[in-house]
Amino acid sequence: MKRACVIGWPIAHSRSPIIHNFWLQELGIDGLYEKQPVKPEELAQFLSSLHERGYSGCNVTIPHKEAVFQLAKPDAIAKRLRAANTLYFADGELQATNTDVEGFWASLKADVPGFSIEGKPAMVLGAGGAARAVIVALLDAGAAEIRVANRTLGRAEELAGLFGDKIKPVDWAKKDQALSDVGLLVNTTALGMEGQPSLEISLENLPPKAAVSDLIYVPLQTRLIEAAQEAGHPVSGGLGMLLHQAVRGFELWFGKRPQVTPALRSLVEADVRRKS
Ligand code: NAP
Repeated sequence: MKRACVIGWPIAHSRSPIIHNFWLQELGIDGLYEKQPVKPEELAQFLSSLHERGYSGCNVTIPHKEAVFQLAKPDAIAKRLRAANTLYFADGELQATNTDVEGFWASLKADVPGFSIEGKPAMVLGAGGAARAVIVALLDAGAAEIRVANRTLGRAEELAGLFGDKIKPVDWAKKDQALSDVGLLVNTTALGMEGQPSLEISLENLPPKAAVSDLIYVPLQTRLIEAAQEAGHPVSGGLGMLLHQAVRGFELWFGKRPQVTPALRSLVEADVRRKS
């Protein structure tokens, strides 16, 4: 039996087992995906015994995404993001990669068919780990400029230092005005998530054809997505990114490339509804 897991502290909230065990069953693979609570001080020991524990690899979540970087060999995308979310064995070594970039982009393309940001500016709200993945996806897709508005401006400035001149830090108070010519608005902050303050933003200046993406998936439909839909913008919610980022990990551990289907989406949506 092939096995993989997700490690984090805490880990009870993770929906990754629902996704991977659905695919294992659907594809008829004799395998298991489980949660493993791993404290920060146990991380090095856990990873050094990953193979002995019978695992082909694992997902990595808070608070280990940066720490694993020192304990596994990062690929080019993990190095660009300075964080990893997926570990697997290749050439006898534990390798680290990051699938959030492709998860974000695949989800956006699936929800907004024909979407392109090439040659256009984009606006990213937030400057944390998720913002890095979104920025890399947009740079690779040819965005002309990526405006980053963040409550703490210094963190947006750090991203400009990390990713170059196309990143333009924007004062949080001026985010509404900076929307007038963008092709995409993405919320990567925690605002609008269940239990968090709401995101206060006016979409008045947003061009009618601009797409709106929100990485939050609890609730499944955020107020930002609702407001954008009401104003006629194409939209992309956060659940798709969670589902699409899981595809490559599954393929690396279990050897088959799975599909993100409506049946999988319904299963995870039901879990989100049940627990919120
Ligand atoms: P993070 O590194 O902790 O960053 C959090 C961001 O939210 C920062 O930019 C922070 O601003 C901002 N923020 C938090 N509270 C705020 C407030 N009250 N007012 C204004 N800004 C506030 O977290 P992350 O890993 O980037 O994740 C961010 C969000 O994306 C979370 O909601 C997470 O669930 C979601 N996410 C979704 C997926 C998916 O697959 N759909 C994947 C990754 C993340 P400061 O810098 O000023 O603190």
